[in-house]
Amino acid sequence: MRKEKLEVILSSANMVTDHHIPFLFSFGVPFESAGNGLRQKHEIRHSGRVIQTMREVKMPLYSALPTEVVRALQAGGVDANGQIAEFSTSDGSSNPCRHCLQDIPLGHGMLILAHRPFARVHPYAETGPVFLCSDQCDRWQSVSNLPPILATSPEYLIKGYDAAERIVYGTGTVVPAITLSASIDAILENPVVAFVHIRSARNNCYQARADKG
Ligand SMILES: [Zn+2]
Repeated sequence: MRKEKLEVILSSANMVTDHHIPFLFSFGVPFESAGNGLRQKHEIRHSGRVIQTMREVKMPLYSALPTEVVRALQAGGVDANGQIAEFSTSDGSSNPCRHCLQDIPLGHGMLILAHRPFARVHPYAETGPVFLCSDQCDRWQSVSNLPPILATSPEYLIKGYDAAERIVYGTGTVVPAITLSASIDAILENPVVAFVHIRSARNNCYQARADKG
């Protein structure tokens, strides 16, 4: 078992470049509490020799849509296009609510609406369709953990934005779900990047956001 784990780590190290090094943190490493985030410290040993000493890393903070925004929409408020949300019924698959970050169960009420996940209106502030539970649901709270809903598609589109909410060019990429967490870590290491948007790879629908921990 130990040998198998080491081989996975080494194989990952061979296929990534320096800015993807956080990918190595994803494998079976114990977490410890540290301030406003979680940190990992790790060493890889091969034949009794330390081949890579990991530095301490702050984990990103994942967030769903703010509760006050969602409650207003659930109460019949208008969306980013100035329209009342459409009411529908979930078919039980691929209908993730952007507030509780769970698939809306089969037969449960669902709102379809346009959302602009930015603080201001500007050329980079994309607006697009999202789903929400029609009933009041609890916001996703495990902010330091990649929400499990983000493992339900084969790939995701991620993009880094600066503090002015402009795209940091060069950060946008489509990544497999299995490397999503590590790829977000890598983008957040860029000092210019303030946050990352996670979107569906095929339909560009906004899913969630990751900030620096
Ligand atoms: Zn919900």
